[in-house]
Amino acid sequence: MNIKFDYTKCEKCDSYTCVDCCAMAVLALENNKPVIVDLDACTLCGICQDLCPSKAVTVES
Ligand code: SF4
Ligand code: SF4
Repeated sequence: MNIKFDYTKCEKCDSYTCVDCCAMAVLALENNKPVIVDLDACTLCGICQDLCPSKAVTVES
């Protein structure tokens, strides 16, 4: 499993939706970019992928 970010598509949307929406705190901001900080906590719910306005997040199971 993995969470992939396409930084060429990421528009650093308001409040960084992908980071903000993850209830498991899998994602965080680092140097103004979303990154994975705790992949083990990911439940593969897919919400970060679904809510990203620029389709920059891919959740791989
Ligand atoms: S798939 Fe769900 S649990 Fe995993 S990083 Fe995205 S929002 Fe968080
Ligand atoms: S939700 Fe998408 S556009 Fe917004 S910060 Fe995350 S990857 Fe970037």
